[in-house]
Amino acid sequence: PKYQSVALIVGVTGIVGNSLAEILPLADTPGGPWKVYGLARRPRPSWNADHPVEYIQCDISDLEDTQSKLSPLSDITHVFYVTWASRSTELENCEVNGKMLRNLLSVIIPNCPNLKHICLQTGRKHYIGPFELFGKVSYDPPYHEELPRLEGPNFYYVLEDILFEEVEKKEGLTWSVHRPGKIFGFSPFSGMNIVETLCVYAAICKQQGIPLKFPGCKAAWDGYSDCSDADLVAEHQIWAAVDPYAKNEAFNVSNGDVFKWKHFWPVLAEQFGVECGGYVGEDLSLQEMMKDKGPVWDEIVREEGLVPTKLEDVGIWWFADVVLKYPCLLDTMNKSKEHGFLGFRNSKNAFISWIDKQKAYKVVP
Ligand code: NAD
Repeated sequence: PKYQSVALIVGVTGIVGNSLAEILPLADTPGGPWKVYGLARRPRPSWNADHPVEYIQCDISDLEDTQSKLSPLSDITHVFYVTWASRSTELENCEVNGKMLRNLLSVIIPNCPNLKHICLQTGRKHYIGPFELFGKVSYDPPYHEELPRLEGPNFYYVLEDILFEEVEKKEGLTWSVHRPGKIFGFSPFSGMNIVETLCVYAAICKQQGIPLKFPGCKAAWDGYSDCSDADLVAEHQIWAAVDPYAKNEAFNVSNGDVFKWKHFWPVLAEQFGVECGGYVGEDLSLQEMMKDKGPVWDEIVREEGLVPTKLEDVGIWWFADVVLKYPCLLDTMNKSKEHGFLGFRNSKNAFISWIDKQKAYKVVP
């Protein structure tokens, strides 16, 4: 056959979905040559359109839509589940996200006789608890995969349990769970994109002639942080999809180095030609500082000829506030290494290259 493997990327316009869509079709990608389907809720955006992917617009929270769009596809061999829906409480997150995964698997598993493996992306909140419990329930880091689940609702646990239950329905079907920390990547449609949000903040400071203050806490400014490069997360999932030694396991996935925001802040300021403000002695809130800046962003988009976006889509202030308001809680990559995944990224180079990508695609000036 022309293709050795057939992927379905669920959430192809998201922060890791976009990286998978770029990497899977490449000639030297393990398990290839890959045929790639990419599913997302909205129409295909221009910045995703160059990837050689068959685009499927589908809302997987709607069972009928999922059945009608996906039941014709019977050749899928691997599913990459890199999507989620954000709700205001964790109980709602559990319900909505559980339904999405269940809808999808209820159609794919019976219809795809060659289905071999499902990669599920969750995240470090597996160890920290949902956003509403941040700072309250966590383990002592660095986090490793064998830590028992925390008390209380967590949509990641719901997703894992649905996955475990569904894979039982098909003999030989395997799974892997991938737990990144904050992801550095590219997607103007992402529900959580820290690099893009900081770029938008820097561009607004520049436009208004004010210094780039660090909005977070002293411990986040001075302490060690880490991140997960979106391309690395994609490579990690592809590794697990094809390597027999990675089957039926959960793995952390982070860059393998540490950085400090106080060292990245001058880099960000320089990229946008804005004065570097740094930590100002108190915690600020981007949500508060940016709440009236919609018209400023519209002006920047117009003046710089950017891809049209709304401030609320590209400046995800609540997320940046959560990331910067607490010290970063680190994980360990030992299990991935012990199972044969030796990939890593230099986080400073990653930070700069993802800023460059947002600029190259004219998402930020
Ligand atoms: P994302 O928000 O970047 O992308 C979501 C994708 O799913 C988009 O393509 C969107 O169109 C699609 N989508 C949303 N609802 C849909 C629906 N109903 N039907 C079809 N498609 C739909 O995704 P992400 O940030 O990679 O999140 C995936 C998982 O990774 C989540 O569990 C998240 O908590 C976790 N995670 C994310 C980060 C981060 O920094 N972004 C960090 C750690 C963990």
